[in-house]
Amino acid sequence: MQLTKKNLVFLGAPGAGKGTISKRLLEKYPLAHISTGDILRAEVAAGTPAGREAETLMKAGKLVSDELVAGMVRRRIAEPDCDNGFILDGFPRTIRQAELLDEALTGAGRTLDGVIYFKVDDELLLKRLTARLNCRGCDAIYNRIFMPPRTEGVCDKCGSPLYQRPDDSLETAQSRLKVFYAQTSPLIEYYTTSGQLHTITATDQDEIMRELVALLA
Ligand code: AMP
Repeated sequence: MQLTKKNLVFLGAPGAGKGTISKRLLEKYPLAHISTGDILRAEVAAGTPAGREAETLMKAGKLVSDELVAGMVRRRIAEPDCDNGFILDGFPRTIRQAELLDEALTGAGRTLDGVIYFKVDDELLLKRLTARLNCRGCDAIYNRIFMPPRTEGVCDKCGSPLYQRPDDSLETAQSRLKVFYAQTSPLIEYYTTSGQLHTITATDQDEIMRELVALLA
């Protein structure tokens, strides 16, 4: 199996490190990174109808409608940079979304090659979320505790200012975790039953990278 021909789902609670690890994998492999959170944030910033529908729900840490998100993903995986494989980061988040993904892939004559579940305990998730910093310029991800930038508030890579996502406040982070357990965690059983789930204990980044590369080599 070649990682460059992989269609993958990264499953895990917010703060599990799916986005950070996706970015590291992309430095090595020509996969497309599809983060539904990033797509939705861009729609909100552009003030599109989809963005307007999503904005209030996102601020509250709730899920946007299955059909809206699945439609975005269906269109995105049809783009040419997905031909070599893709990482779906933060999608699916409900059983219905998983069914819609199966339909979209079958319709496109493609398959899902694996689902990586990033397992992290809640205390660490909350610490990571509430200390997370994002770059306004290049979307790089930092963490005030675990991965601070060299200069406070400034991106090492592009020099743009860093900011805290509004939904990374303690209150919203806590409700996002609740939403994960209520609506997303049933996918662990769904993909165990389909024989596609691989669980990684996601504490140390270098260790995760080693496991992932070994798993998919
Ligand atoms: P994320 O960047 O993945 O943490 O997503 C940020 C927010 O975008 C979530 O809290 C949801 O409000 C929304 N969102 C992202 N992906 C999905 C999805 N697959 N289904 C529903 N809502 C989503």
